[in-house]
Amino acid sequence: MNEGHSTLRNPSVAVIGAGMTGILMAIRLREAGIDDITILEKADKVGGTWRENTYPGVACDVPAHMYTYSFKGNPEWEHRFAQGDEIQSYFEGVAAEYGVTEQVRFNEALEASHYRDGRWHLTTSKGSKLVVDFVVAATGILHHPAYPDIPGLDVFRGDMFHTARWNHDVSLAGKRVGIIGTGSTASQVISEISKSVGHLTVFQRTPQWIFSVDDKDYTERDKQRLRGNQKLMSKLSQRYAFLMRHTFSAAVTGNKLAHSIISWLTRRNLRKSVRDPELRAKLTPDYKVGCKRLVISGTFYEAIQRDNVALETTGIERIFEAGVITSDGTEHELDVLILATGFHPFNFMRPMDLTGRDGVSIDQAWAKKVQAYRSLCVPGFPNFFLMLGPNTPIGNYSVIAMSEVQSRYVLKLIDNWRRGELETVEATEEAKVRYNEYLKAGMGKTVWVGGCQSWYLDPDGDPAMWPYSWDQWVKELEEPDLDHFHRRAPAEIVPLNPAEKAA
Ligand code: NAP
Repeated sequence: MNEGHSTLRNPSVAVIGAGMTGILMAIRLREAGIDDITILEKADKVGGTWRENTYPGVACDVPAHMYTYSFKGNPEWEHRFAQGDEIQSYFEGVAAEYGVTEQVRFNEALEASHYRDGRWHLTTSKGSKLVVDFVVAATGILHHPAYPDIPGLDVFRGDMFHTARWNHDVSLAGKRVGIIGTGSTASQVISEISKSVGHLTVFQRTPQWIFSVDDKDYTERDKQRLRGNQKLMSKLSQRYAFLMRHTFSAAVTGNKLAHSIISWLTRRNLRKSVRDPELRAKLTPDYKVGCKRLVISGTFYEAIQRDNVALETTGIERIFEAGVITSDGTEHELDVLILATGFHPFNFMRPMDLTGRDGVSIDQAWAKKVQAYRSLCVPGFPNFFLMLGPNTPIGNYSVIAMSEVQSRYVLKLIDNWRRGELETVEATEEAKVRYNEYLKAGMGKTVWVGGCQSWYLDPDGDPAMWPYSWDQWVKELEEPDLDHFHRRAPAEIVPLNPAEKAA
């Protein structure tokens, strides 16, 4: 792909977001000989989700040595499950080392992106205008905090914040704290803050299945063994990946044996960790293990049984000035209320003002359903890629691995464009429809349709996930099928006017 650059069209590319995927895309584009890259980042630092989520206990429940770029292992991980600040440093380090940081336009969000005359016309929050051939939205999935629609949220007099907007000015020590939610985020927060708060009330609407894996601290000797040895780090990463594929990933996509083993271990974890039958009953979900994203925690059950922690399962009626009122009329007085209520997973790059061919907005394109072809391409939006778009596998796997697979596919499509094999890169509507029928056909055997409500489900109740194996996903993304794209005769290539391109 790197051969003969001089004979290829040389695209200009805007990458939106300098999180894990944006950094990766910038590196990959440059490797492919594409230098005309603009990276827009709304914040003042790289890191994306790891920059934004700084709540106590924040960590990655995918093993650290698997949660790295394949080309850049990290011998310095302190723990098997890396903590948020370690991960943030890792991304900052990679971005600096590969010259990405210096290319990022920080504190500059992309506000509008309109496709006309074969190019994308962008307007940023600083009022800058630029015109590019390709836009890559590396804007993440779980990016827009979801605030619960509980009456009275605005009347609470204490401190209140969402986990993704943690207020570090508020000390929790000795305070009466309430937390709404019991997902992956809440389980990490609860494990950590229960050690120091005066009293913690956990408001649980639905119990979660918790799979326990012990953390491990890496010693200096462990690190020394890995330093300078990318091959060994890759091996370690692949070993974890193999394990995850044949256990968690298989279990959720229809492998009955893997599912029954994970189920058994998960149920045993609850039985062994929580001896009080009443508390155990409250913590027992009524849906299949893995239906909601499996929470990985070796500390949650211990935390919920601390003397200063109460699990409240009566529904919340409303918030009042001094705390939370549950539907049995009990007033729970609180100093601090934490909202661990998750994210809007279907917003993606929105609320960006994005219009494709013929002036169709992304809201119009997605009015009936949020769908894409191979998660990445939305018909009507030529030369636009949505990284980690709808039905990207997700699950309990490394999202970095997903971005790596997608970035290779995107680079191949850009290469088709550079060679003139595609005039524009635009999936056909038919290809998108077929692809989504194919996805739907596989959902029946997955656990996501196992009778629970989760952020995996779209408003129609369809899981926005990949229902087949990881290996199959990788294989299908190896080579783009150009029959699934509009094949127009290559147009005359109009060189960009440098004045038009300038900010
Ligand atoms: P989440 O899984 O969507 O959980 C949100 C929680 O808030 C649920 O317990 C939900 O209850 C509750 N909730 C929402 N609205 C409510 C309301 N109005 N009243 C009462 N309860 C309400 O969100 P999350 O915990 O932030 O996790 C989201 C995803 O982020 C995870 O699934 C995972 O993919 C990712 N994550 C990963 C890691 C990691 O270590 N890799 C860590 C954190 C997060 P219901 O269950 O009843 O809806």
